[in-house]
Amino acid sequence: MKCSLCNQEKKLLKRSHIIPDFMYEGLFNENHFLKFVNLNKPKIPSYRPNGIYDKDILCAYCDNEVIGKLENYARTITFGGSNLKSHEMPKFLKRKSSDGIESVIIENVDYTSYKLFLLSVLWRAHISKHSFFSNIHLGAKAEQVRAMILDNNAGDENAFEVSIIFLSPSEAYSKIIAPPTISQDGSRFAFLINQALYLFSTAKDSNLALFKKGRIAKDSRVEIMNLEGKQARQIFEKYFKGKFSSVVE
Ligand SMILES: [Zn+2]
Repeated sequence: MKCSLCNQEKKLLKRSHIIPDFMYEGLFNENHFLKFVNLNKPKIPSYRPNGIYDKDILCAYCDNEVIGKLENYARTITFGGSNLKSHEMPKFLKRKSSDGIESVIIENVDYTSYKLFLLSVLWRAHISKHSFFSNIHLGAKAEQVRAMILDNNAGDENAFEVSIIFLSPSEAYSKIIAPPTISQDGSRFAFLINQALYLFSTAKDSNLALFKKGRIAKDSRVEIMNLEGKQARQIFEKYFKGKFSSVVE
């Protein structure tokens, strides 16, 4: 069978995660089960020991080495850790803007590894046959993203923009993974994973305000706004309201 990333005939894995395990952190219960809720029948959730995965999409090399390397880097950025040499370690700062919005600024971020990691989640959702990701279609752009991941080339910062925003708790959506959504014109994608909103644009220079501040840029600095209350709710409703019928919580 043919691996979706390297396009070579190889033995494919029986389990390739679409969203890596570490991004489910905090959602597993004490027995390491995740709760899957069908919002049409919220009283009868199902519990599963694994996140959402596909079989027969990736070979071991592509999953464990190519994507695994990106995941290891992203895990360190998210949780800290000792995998990195001291000069590679990210630095975390907090900032409050004049309009009162708090941000976390991560400095010393490896643009290539972090951006490609996030694009790999988008691309994996595209190749997944799981219904949870059925909205995600990259169309002709899929081939470009595949080549970027395989060649370890994150490209220009205004192409395939990625932006992250924290949406603070206090609402029902605080700790969930929602099925990702696509904009009407098919060029923007939104993932809500554990309080973080990941926005992707496949249009060059999207001009979207949320990308201006938060997009992952080559200056090795990522600014993640922390939106609360009404602002968080507006963003949530814009991208997700009425668009999903099941969640992982
Ligand atoms: Zn492969």
